[in-house]
Amino acid sequence: MITPEETTHGIEETEETRVARLLIVDDEEIMREFLREVLTDEGYVIDLASSGREAVDKMRGHTYDIVITDVVMPGLDGLGVVSAAKELPYEVAVIVMTGYASMETAVESMKLGATDYITKPFNIDQIRIIVKNALEARALKRRAAEGEFYKELSRKDGLTELYNHRFFHQLLDTEVSRAERYNRVVSLLMIDIDDFKSYNDSHGHPSGDLVLRRLARLLKRSSRNCDFVARYGGEEFAVIAPEVSAESARRMAERIRSLIDESDFEGEETMSGGRLTISIGLATYPIQADSKSALLENADRALYRAKGNGKNQVVVWGEEKLN
Ligand code: GH3
Ligand code: MG
Ligand code: MG
Repeated sequence: MITPEETTHGIEETEETRVARLLIVDDEEIMREFLREVLTDEGYVIDLASSGREAVDKMRGHTYDIVITDVVMPGLDGLGVVSAAKELPYEVAVIVMTGYASMETAVESMKLGATDYITKPFNIDQIRIIVKNALEARALKRRAAEGEFYKELSRKDGLTELYNHRFFHQLLDTEVSRAERYNRVVSLLMIDIDDFKSYNDSHGHPSGDLVLRRLARLLKRSSRNCDFVARYGGEEFAVIAPEVSAESARRMAERIRSLIDESDFEGEETMSGGRLTISIGLATYPIQADSKSALLENADRALYRAKGNGKNQVVVWGEEKLN
């Protein structure tokens, strides 16, 4: 993780190199001191709390990696600490301490979200291992989330936050292969803004960019969760619609076309007809194309025909123009 944190020593440390900070919660001083000693030897920074209430206050005031809490305490007990930990604005692993006699409470606290439990009387090795495991699990989880984040970032187009050209090709490959293997259909819509050059000429490139962003949001909103919306090129977009037949895809495309026609875009009154519109070319695998490249090519040819036929319309590959 690349979140630098200013420590008390004024040295910049990253999440990875930072010494883990632990909070130990027990109403018995002898227990707190024992754990402090063991875990300080392990190189952790230790804070103590003598009640559930004090623990919750400290958890809100500092950021801990792990909280180790006794279960049975007067006032707010260990289960209360586990519940309070879930409400914090950061993620903390909670380990509960329990005697063999109250093992059901340990199970209950795990159900509430505790990471693990330590049994009393203490076994020093057990404590060391459980704490180390909890810290490792946190680090792994964080790295996995970070990996996901960067992976997602590399698939997205910076301006519109839609899938980019490269990932679009990967998706189309996957979806056509899947359709082929399982005898399914997949439809492809190629979308291009009508006379966008004229919009840019009248309002400038930055305003044109805002139109692209708004259009992207509208496309996302008008497609299903399982459809893939991508920015294919400058002012060209594509929607991959798995499991959508040619007939449904035609209705979907028409719905999108009229939504954009009816939506208001800043400055669109300068466009011919006073509205910003799009043209859509459509093809469906396998009936109108028998491969990924044919699907792409035919949807693109249909788009070209929509432009030739006067724009602001949907053309299905192999059919005459609509409306
Ligand atoms: P048509 O109806 O035939 O599609 O006409 P058009 O003017 O939209 O098409 P043309 O291909 O001639 O021009 C596309 C324009 O799209 C030109 C370019 O300035 C604009 N464009 C492409 N990418 C971007 C972008 O990222 N931002 C902005 N603002 N404009 C872009
Ligand atoms: Mg174009
Ligand atoms: Mg265009």
